[in-house]
Amino acid sequence: MAQTLPSACPLDCPDACSLDVQVADGRVVKVDGSRRNPYTQGFICSKVRHFPDLLYGEGRVLHPAVRRGGKGEGRFERISWDAALDLAAEKLRAARERFGGESILPFFYGGSNGFLTQETTDARLFHRLGASRLARTVCAAPTGRAATGLYGKMAGVALPDYVHARLIVLWGGNPHATGIHLVPVIQEAQRRGAKLVVIDPRRIPLAKKADLHLAPRPGGDLPIALALHRHLFETGQADLAFLAEHAHGAEELRARALPWTFERAAEVSGVPVEELELFARLYAESSPAVVRSGWGYERNRNGGSAVAAVLALPAVAGKFGVRGGGYTMSNSGLWSTIDRAAASCEPEPATRLLNMNRLGEDLLQRQDPPISVLFVYNCNPVATMPNQAKVVQGLRREDLFTIVSEQVWTDTAHLADLVLPATTFFEHDEMSRGYGAMILNASTAVAEPAGEARPNYAVFADLCRRLGLDRPGEPETPDELRAALLHRSPRIQADTARDGFSFPDTGWTPVQFVDAFPLTPDRKIHLVPPALDQEAPRGLYGYQDDPATAAWPLALISPATGKTISSSLGHLSQETAVVEIHPADAAPRGIVSGDTVRLWNDLGEVHVPARVSADVRPGVVFLPKGLWNRHTLSGTTSNALSPDTFSDLGAGACFNDARVQVAKG
Ligand code: SF4
Repeated sequence: MAQTLPSACPLDCPDACSLDVQVADGRVVKVDGSRRNPYTQGFICSKVRHFPDLLYGEGRVLHPAVRRGGKGEGRFERISWDAALDLAAEKLRAARERFGGESILPFFYGGSNGFLTQETTDARLFHRLGASRLARTVCAAPTGRAATGLYGKMAGVALPDYVHARLIVLWGGNPHATGIHLVPVIQEAQRRGAKLVVIDPRRIPLAKKADLHLAPRPGGDLPIALALHRHLFETGQADLAFLAEHAHGAEELRARALPWTFERAAEVSGVPVEELELFARLYAESSPAVVRSGWGYERNRNGGSAVAAVLALPAVAGKFGVRGGGYTMSNSGLWSTIDRAAASCEPEPATRLLNMNRLGEDLLQRQDPPISVLFVYNCNPVATMPNQAKVVQGLRREDLFTIVSEQVWTDTAHLADLVLPATTFFEHDEMSRGYGAMILNASTAVAEPAGEARPNYAVFADLCRRLGLDRPGEPETPDELRAALLHRSPRIQADTARDGFSFPDTGWTPVQFVDAFPLTPDRKIHLVPPALDQEAPRGLYGYQDDPATAAWPLALISPATGKTISSSLGHLSQETAVVEIHPADAAPRGIVSGDTVRLWNDLGEVHVPARVSADVRPGVVFLPKGLWNRHTLSGTTSNALSPDTFSDLGAGACFNDARVQVAKG
């Protein structure tokens, strides 16, 4: 008989939903939202509702397997866990002895996003091996640098408080795809009279309901934000009293914004002057006004400066100090007392740091020492890293031993030498936090692991033992790891002990500059932090030109859709993806909806059907991120066209700097 058990979603989404899971005979039969986390409101996205198809579908990795054919041929032989872990240990040991620990590269991202299954026993293993370290900057690195530099990761406006706003600015985020629970909050705010401004190169669903939709060219967000600053300062609408009391660098920001007239910003961003003026007027005159800063506009050469300029707006315009006024970026900084070091029990060594956005380059470059063992978990780099051709070429290196711990047979797993079956969050204990919703969830396994799947924390603890790198008394079980992670968080411990879920269960709704302040050392806002100014190639707020050329005139953007939140969920989709192209770009190329088109640049080529649509702005084409090879006609995805260049801050990925040509056929 089915029973309903509580769980929580740890996937890479701001919302941190609490779940009700129907389980029968140890298998998940239905997943729905619960109300334990009030923000979930009893509903969830379709991605996680369909999770049973991933758990029990054909593509699930059910047992350890070792490659028998050529790399990528897909011929694997089932082996026992003992044999698999012995082989993994032997390869790790041999790599360290022959080339040194830095020849080992752990490669992981947000596939699990939980505190227990990442940076616990895995960090213990790789730190003790002296492995290379990974700069995990494929997402949120520029936003993290900007938010930390300006505000020290101050807590943001609680998303439910958006109902109090008179103006909501949705900048570079699409809640229908990621963070769906913000949609009813915005709708309620609109019912109460709030205006909505959406800034996105695409007419996303909320743009269709907005009072104003600005559709900049990728990389054009920075000039728009600077033009707003110029307007605020030059029209006497900047809150100079607030800036004098709470901020450093206002005059410097003013000077840097000065050249950005509406006309110049319009020319560079592609947004008409009148729309910029209307936006400036709405923002200056509305209070409470809140900016929901998403992650879409960080993924280009100007991304870090753009985020900094946007986050500086509420300070300059005097929007703090009222409920529903200010900004929301990531609230992950709230969980700073969670002590990952106590769970890993091994400090991070000062070994070389490799940026994940250059995986292909690093695999092929044969640097000293070469990467000899690549251990991939919670990640699918073939689908998610830039410059896909190089990543694939690197993974095909015959002298590279690749271990992939995965839930489903991803494109990366098919290129592995050894594949280990990993549990999902329904099959292991987890602890995870929202980075929009201010919630921490602790969950226990609700289902039996499919096949022989094992949780990461158990696999890496076992490898530590096999390599003689374990020490008595170190935390290994979920309870021990949770206790170590929470030893500096007595309030959370008490709550977790009570019901195992959702801290704080009432939700915190801070008002910025009333009960949440900057976490910079002097508790001030730093509008032009020297460290960021030195890091950005043209200084902070320095605009870098669009990389389009005559050969590659169109900007390719690859935002998230409602189908994937981690690339493992690509497993659930069998459909061929389509590229969206504006009628003004399609007509001269003779393209109509349904035509097969090729998109190409000097990095690669992708073949997909086209959809001609005015939902994407002229000069921009849209192909979703997170696709698998089977989702296109060419077996390549948008990542094959994405450069492995870095954003101005944080060495983040520049997916939206891909410039391409498109033709029929
Ligand atoms: S992906 Fe987001 S919206 Fe979907 S269940 Fe998880 S937290 Fe909720």
